[in-house]
Amino acid sequence: MDKVMAVNAGSSSLKFKLYEMPEEKVLCSGNAERIGHEDAIFGIKWGSESEKKVLPILDHAAAVQLVVDALIEKKIIHSMDEIVAVGHRIVQGGKYFSHSELFSKDTEDKIESLIPLAPLHNKAHLVGFRAFKKILPNVTSVAVFDTAFHQSMEPQDYVFPIPYEYTTKYDCRRYGAHGTSHQYLSQEATKYLKGNKHPRIISCHIGSGASITAIKDSKCVATSMGLTPLGGIMMGTRTGDLDPSVMNYLCTCTGKSVEEMYQIFNKKSGFLGVSEVSNDSRDVLAAVDEGNEKAILANKLFIRRIADFIGQYYVRLGGVDMIIFSAGIGENSYEIRESICKEIEPALGLKIDYEKNKGKRGVEVVISKPESPIVVAVIPTDEEVMIARDTYHFYKK
Ligand code: ADP
Repeated sequence: MDKVMAVNAGSSSLKFKLYEMPEEKVLCSGNAERIGHEDAIFGIKWGSESEKKVLPILDHAAAVQLVVDALIEKKIIHSMDEIVAVGHRIVQGGKYFSHSELFSKDTEDKIESLIPLAPLHNKAHLVGFRAFKKILPNVTSVAVFDTAFHQSMEPQDYVFPIPYEYTTKYDCRRYGAHGTSHQYLSQEATKYLKGNKHPRIISCHIGSGASITAIKDSKCVATSMGLTPLGGIMMGTRTGDLDPSVMNYLCTCTGKSVEEMYQIFNKKSGFLGVSEVSNDSRDVLAAVDEGNEKAILANKLFIRRIADFIGQYYVRLGGVDMIIFSAGIGENSYEIRESICKEIEPALGLKIDYEKNKGKRGVEVVISKPESPIVVAVIPTDEEVMIARDTYHFYKK
């Protein structure tokens, strides 16, 4: 039986999910956190069981060894040979990758060359890949890029209006992110759009990180995140799109450096920055209920930015057949879904069944009425299964 591991390696973490393929059955999932520390944490879930322990995990190779040992000890697999392929999530594929790719020296070099565009992520992904290569040298290794799905954009959708030399010389352009999720959602949407030969979809991946994508004929035509995931709509701690002079002005006002301000835009803005309550939408909504004015403003800002992008993409697509809500907030916060729908309903002519939307968390559900000209649905995303599918595909080739 073929087992495929989907891996998401961060600078001090390693998330994994093991699938039996081609059935796509999840055998186990887990996470190593605080890698590099004596008191690192290793957690694994399989069947109805789970285990979590604190122990030293000094590097990623040690984390991979721990994963493999746990799989055998818990009898999830009998031998390491059962793992035929490992798929690695890679945040930035730059201009090089419009689909997943087998790991080779060339793939590795390209991912390495893109480190300046995603300093924390790409570096960590390579550390993760090399750690797996050390422990499982003979498996098929595949790189699955967060940016690949967005490579179908036209230049007028991805070029920034800066001196063109910077676009070509430094590859400074829109790449987007969450591509694996948007592609999954686009594929899942087809079952609601049977008979529609040219489906137009707006997928809203709204979690801590949030992006919106316009999809036509299963291809991305526009996406809200930019050069990095800082662009687009407001997020948990990120600003989303800003007038670029905000950077200059605030550095002058505060005396902070560009780097310091960049960190503030990434880590101290968004829901957290405006509400001064939390980066978590649940805390912000709780504060809204208590009448906290900054929380109310933060929530309104969030809804408005999303509605604006939906309006923009409605035009970009020449109409829309389906709007999808997904990720932490999109799947779970029916309150925020309701607010967004109320904002876009009059212009788009949607008919939403608010009773059906109410209380739905983490489940796939159509929240538009049958007579609505646009299907509006909640679809839980699954980036890992996409990684496993692509990876298995390369193994079988
Ligand atoms: P990311 O993967 O980008 O870190 P998630 O997709 O996990 O983020 O989304 C996190 C967001 O989802 C948080 O703002 C959180 O409030 C929201 N969220 C998660 N679960 C729930 C829930 N059960 N009800 C309401 N909101 C939720």
